[in-house]
Amino acid sequence: MKKISLAIHGGAGTLVRGMMTPEKESLYKAVLESALNRGYMLLESGASAVEVVEVSVKELEDSHLFNAGKGSVFTSEGKHEMDASIMDGKTLNAGAVSLVSGIKNPISLARDVMEKSDHVFLASKGAMQFADKLKYPLEDEKYFYDELRFQQWQELRGTEGFQLDHSAANKDSKFGTVGAVACDGFGNLAAATSTGGMTNKRFGRVGDSPMIGAGNYANNKTCAVSCTGSGEYFIRGVVAYDLSCLMEYKNLSLQDAAEELIQNRLLKLGGDGGLIAVDALGNISMPFNTEGMYRACKSSDGTDQISIYMN
Ligand code: ASP
Repeated sequence: MKKISLAIHGGAGTLVRGMMTPEKESLYKAVLESALNRGYMLLESGASAVEVVEVSVKELEDSHLFNAGKGSVFTSEGKHEMDASIMDGKTLNAGAVSLVSGIKNPISLARDVMEKSDHVFLASKGAMQFADKLKYPLEDEKYFYDELRFQQWQELRGTEGFQLDHSAANKDSKFGTVGAVACDGFGNLAAATSTGGMTNKRFGRVGDSPMIGAGNYANNKTCAVSCTGSGEYFIRGVVAYDLSCLMEYKNLSLQDAAEELIQNRLLKLGGDGGLIAVDALGNISMPFNTEGMYRACKSSDGTDQISIYMN
């Protein structure tokens, strides 16, 4: 069997150290560890990369700690609108949904778009009709209620600000999007990303997370990648696909390509965030240009890491 690898993230951002108590830190790490181990056990038992990234992301979506699924942030109207995407690096098939509400696991709906529809990207009302057709149960608003998220919204409610505007010093402003990338025992790659977007977002704002090539991409020839950060910049930089291109056309290694994107190209655009990526040899890269990024990875070469800040 070839080297198998799994990496997951729970978002990057300005994670002010003073605001992170040891108790909170262990809570975050425990959820990351559980999602990582669940996915990795599946990988070890021969599951496909696609299956593994979906399962890992689902586990993160089920935690209120991250801005995806259950822990999704509030929109300007006090609702939750979620985006997700998944891509299979073997077939280049992909599925994505945006602006869905009430769906417990948007990543599963994205996978169903990939496998049970003739389309790649379904949005808003149409995505909800598709979910209804597949008999997805809907959770009520209470399921998605989180006091901290509510307070974050109160700070911006009624203003035109949204969470991207995070220049305030001493403010914990993280992008809690979640994602997973995997290389399975057959050298197949897959990537999955899921998010609640930005607090107080309006006008049907959609970020990079559900956009194939911007926040998520997988191709067996190069890499699988899931991004997190200021979505508008990741869209303009076509970051996920650019990582693949730097490897395919410029022969850069996964690590060099990932560093170039996050520490150079994205910064030059003015964007902040990070990404997790894996190549077909099972190498993993997890660069970020923010203070921290919730991340974890495990590989059959003995790699086993769970981190929040720069080491
Ligand atoms: N990239 C996401 C978005 O712009 C936010 C995040 O990474 O948390 O919607």
